[in-house]
Amino acid sequence: MSTGTRTVVRGGLVVTAADEMHADVLIEGGRIAALAAHDSDTAAGWIADTVIDATGKYVIPGGVDGHTHMQMPFGGTTASDTFETGTRAAAWGGTTTIVDFAIQSVGASLRAGLDDWHAKADAQCAVDYGFHMIVADVNDKTLAEMDTLVEEGVTSFKMFMAYPGVFYSDDGQILRAMQRASGNGGLVMMHAENGIAIDVLVQQALAAGRTDPRYHGEVRHALLEAEATHRAIQLARVAGSPLYVVHVSAEQAVAELAAARDLGLPVFGETCPQYLFLSTDNLAEPDFEGAKYVCSTPLRPREHQAALWRGLRTDDLQVVSTDHCPFCFSGQKEMGRGDFSKIPNGMPGVEHRMDLLHQAVVDGQITRRRWIDIACAAPARMFGLYPRKGTIAPGADADVVVYDPHAEQTVSASTHHMNVDYSAYEGRKLTGRVETVLSRGVPVIEGRTFVGRAGHGQYTPRGICQYL
Ligand SMILES: [Zn+2]
Repeated sequence: MSTGTRTVVRGGLVVTAADEMHADVLIEGGRIAALAAHDSDTAAGWIADTVIDATGKYVIPGGVDGHTHMQMPFGGTTASDTFETGTRAAAWGGTTTIVDFAIQSVGASLRAGLDDWHAKADAQCAVDYGFHMIVADVNDKTLAEMDTLVEEGVTSFKMFMAYPGVFYSDDGQILRAMQRASGNGGLVMMHAENGIAIDVLVQQALAAGRTDPRYHGEVRHALLEAEATHRAIQLARVAGSPLYVVHVSAEQAVAELAAARDLGLPVFGETCPQYLFLSTDNLAEPDFEGAKYVCSTPLRPREHQAALWRGLRTDDLQVVSTDHCPFCFSGQKEMGRGDFSKIPNGMPGVEHRMDLLHQAVVDGQITRRRWIDIACAAPARMFGLYPRKGTIAPGADADVVVYDPHAEQTVSASTHHMNVDYSAYEGRKLTGRVETVLSRGVPVIEGRTFVGRAGHGQYTPRGICQYL
């Protein structure tokens, strides 16, 4: 679509994090040009090349998934979605921006890791993408590189209190990176689990013959998530830096975040659909099926879900991302038969985040506007993409989804578009479905058909966190 092409989305209910408006939307040159009431003289005067009828539908901003791992190497294998298949699946589910994680290897520079991830994603993506940087090797050179990356638009740095010997950083390394972030505007994202203690429990469980997937959940104790969350918050306070805790799953960790926010600290939290909709009941499924649900932090007993929903309503949790990191059951998850610690950690989800959260609207857990906030606007603000992404307003990129709130669907691996041989939500009936997706004004999904292409998606440098 060339610049100057005009599209009008007519008749829908525009829903953003802030407003609900019965409005037509004019798109010009890949951006939102104007909104005007249905049947107003203004809207009637718009002449367009393409008219999309959204009568009876929602018109919402494209989703922003701030946490994905396309084709990530982990545990001797690689996540099964490439940037091509994973961003195509994202588009099917109404997500038009992902922020993926480039990885620094121990002994190498941040730059080398970032270059690798650019090479994987370049010319492959169906929707726009940015990068966070995983910092695995804190040293003077790495710290200096953080400043450069922030200036270039890689403004967030993930660190791990888990996975000793792989991504793990000790408290001193974390403190140093946080001190650097406090000076350069970067946001430290934390995988908050006490990995040193967890590894002891893993070895004890295996030695006692407790090898099934459900023990993955038991050894990664909720208190070890809460303890690490508390420790990360205190380190960030000492460093004077903001903190974003990824994939919060334990009620006790939510409490730590809530307490910090009550003190007015710049502490933020993300959860994921798997923690809101699944539980240790899934991890305990027989015949090794529980391996499908192995991810870290782990799924929790379902009693934890109420605290996560409450946190999303009270803004103690701001963002729902997927932590999309798919491994096929056949050949990949199966690597951990007889030893749960060898099951690759991660679950598919990039395609169903918007729909699952819409189901939460239907179920009365959250409002429509909160749905758009936690799935679109808040992640865009958190990661320096707003208002270009995450809203429908003049000047924003025309990442627009026409969403049918009444359509019924049944989630299944036989119909999903992710490159993975199972669905964590197999057979689940959902109300609501994506109908049409535009990325910068260009159709990607049209009438439940993929009409996009690999390479349409552009690398999107980011500003600093807009909550600071
Ligand atoms: Zn992750």
